[in-house]
Amino acid sequence: MNPVEMGSKRSSSEGSLFSIEAVHKPKISETVANQLRKEIALGHFKVGEKLPSDLELARRYQVGRTAVREAFRILEFNGLLSVRAGNSGGAFVCRPDQGILKTQLEEILRMDGVSVGHLYEVRLALEPDMLETALKRATPADLAALRENVERSEASFLEGRQQDKVRETYGFHIILAEMTRNPIYVFLMKAIIEIMYQSYSRVMPVTDFNRIPIDDHREILTHIENGNIAEAKRHLVHHIEEINDGVMKEVHLHDFLLKKS
Ligand SMILES: [Zn+2]
Repeated sequence: MNPVEMGSKRSSSEGSLFSIEAVHKPKISETVANQLRKEIALGHFKVGEKLPSDLELARRYQVGRTAVREAFRILEFNGLLSVRAGNSGGAFVCRPDQGILKTQLEEILRMDGVSVGHLYEVRLALEPDMLETALKRATPADLAALRENVERSEASFLEGRQQDKVRETYGFHIILAEMTRNPIYVFLMKAIIEIMYQSYSRVMPVTDFNRIPIDDHREILTHIENGNIAEAKRHLVHHIEEINDGVMKEVHLHDFLLKKS
């Protein structure tokens, strides 16, 4: 639960000594959090940048350090800040999508029981058109990034770094989304990949996915580099179908092994 909500709920009925503090503190920290949120939105603090210390912000906003620290916690919960301890620590500005997206997706997964088939359906509907848009707007730097991604996935695979390989092969699809310059494609692709992580992670440890995705990506890339959009799209569809079949087999194998053990 959001710390702000906790504060406001507690204030209504409880009459203990502790509730007095609980009523007042979140209000100040909430104001500080809102102020910081505004400054981040205005670009006064950029992604990756460290905020001034709690002491400095407390002076600036004329509030206690505790309120500033509480505001940090609120913004951390919202995925806007990452608070690190230690000498080189502090409150760092994050891209807001990941934390919020992850929490909300986890809710959806728990509530609605997403299946491999659901993912497959949406990916087939989304990605071929996304690819076409991406290729209309791609720069040479984008194509270089895509090639670099394929090389890195290959290296991870050959060196047996399975986690890296999975991350890189998912990254291929995120790069395609970013090439569209459409933030909604990027958001949707990241959401799909988050769901894939969540739902495939239970089958991943059983067997490796082999090199199929890397070979597919390489072939899609070749068609892209040759300017053959139709072939690139056709192979992307084939790739999604193939991955879906592969995952379905892994799911069955996983269930089979579970039953045996
Ligand atoms: Zn792929």
